[in-house]
Amino acid sequence: MPQVFNFSAGPATMPKAVLEKAQEELLNWQNQQTSVMEISHRSPLFMQLIQQAEADLRRLYHIPDNYKILFLQGGARGQFAAIPLNLLTENSKALYLTSGHWSKLAAQEARLFGEIDEINILEDGDKLKVTDLDFKDRAENYAYVHYCPNETISGVEIFTPPDVGRAVLVADMSSTILSRKIDISKFGLIYAGAQKNLGPSGITLVIVREDLLGKARKATPVIWNYAVQAEKDSMINTPPTFAWYLCALTFQYWLQEGGLSEIEKRNQAKAELLYAYLDESDFYHNVVAKENRSLMNVTFSTQDSALDAKFVAQAKEAGLHALKGHKVLGGMRASIYNAMPLAGVEALIAFMQKFALENA
Ligand SMILES: *Cc1c(COP(=O)(O)O)cnc(C)c1O
Repeated sequence: MPQVFNFSAGPATMPKAVLEKAQEELLNWQNQQTSVMEISHRSPLFMQLIQQAEADLRRLYHIPDNYKILFLQGGARGQFAAIPLNLLTENSKALYLTSGHWSKLAAQEARLFGEIDEINILEDGDKLKVTDLDFKDRAENYAYVHYCPNETISGVEIFTPPDVGRAVLVADMSSTILSRKIDISKFGLIYAGAQKNLGPSGITLVIVREDLLGKARKATPVIWNYAVQAEKDSMINTPPTFAWYLCALTFQYWLQEGGLSEIEKRNQAKAELLYAYLDESDFYHNVVAKENRSLMNVTFSTQDSALDAKFVAQAKEAGLHALKGHKVLGGMRASIYNAMPLAGVEALIAFMQKFALENA
C-alpha cells in the first residue's frame, strides 16, 4: 500500500499528531477514565479546555481583545442566515461581493432576511481574476459588506481585503482561516466551518467585534444570537464537544509547530511548487489569474473530461485521494490545507509528471 495523502476539500486532512493524541487519550481523558465526549460540557475540566482553546486561538491568529470568539453549530451555511439576522436591521441594506459559488450562496440566503445589493467582482475574460476592490465611497451606505476571501470550488483567493472605509467587513473564511497572516482589525466579523483548517465538521468559528453584538432582530433564534452566545460561552445548548476538543488540539499543535508565520511559510512553499509545475506543463491547465491563485485549493484539468476521470482514478490507486474537482466545475482540485505536508504536494507533482508522460 502506498502512503496516502488526502486532498479532500472538506472535511479535510487533519494533522496526524492531533489524531494520534486524540487516539491516545480517547478512553481516558484527563485521568477521568472516560472519554472527553462523555462528560458534561459544563464540567470544570471541559470549561478549562474551551478557555485554553480560546486563548490558544487568540495567540495563534493574533485576535485583538475587542473581538469575541464563538464556537457555534450549523456550519458556514448556518452563518449565511445568522449574519443578516444579527447585523442587518429592518431599515438597512447589505452589500454582497460575489466571486463564485459560496459568495453567491451567501447572498442568496441573506436575501431571505432583507434587502441585499450584489456586485460581481470577477472580471470577464478567460482567466478568473478579481476586479479592483475599492468600495470606500459606497460601502458606508450598508450595514455590512460581505465577501469570500477564498472560493473553495474554483480556487480563487483574494489576498487584499476590499477597501470598505469604515463600513463593517464580513468574511467567509471557511477555506482560508489560519492559512496566512491577516489583520483581524480590518474585519467586523469572520466566520469559518471548522472542517477545512481547524478540525472536524460540526463546529463553526465566529470571530466578531464586540460593538456589533446586541443588534439582532427580535425573531432571531436564540442559538443564532451572537450576543447571547457570547454571554453563555457558546453553550446556549449542548455544543459539539468532541469537535471542539479536536479544534483545541489543532490550535495547540500549530502553536508548537511555530505559529502562523510557520504555517504561512509552509503553505506558500507548497502552493508555489504546485503552481510552478502547472505553469511549466502544457498538459495541465489552471484558469485562475496569478494574483488570485488560491494557496489552499489548486484547480487544474487536462481539458479532456475522460482523461481527467482517468487521472483521478489512477491518482487514487497511487495513494493520492480526493482529487476530483467539484461537480459544478469538473477537472481536478488539490486542496492543500494547513495539514497537508510538503511531501504530499511532492508526491502529487511526481504523479502528475508520470501521468502526463504516459498520456500526452
Ligand atoms: C465549505 C465551505 C462552506 C460550507 O461550509 P458548511 O460548514 O458545510 O456549511 C461555505 N463557504 C466556504 C468558502 C466553504 O469553503
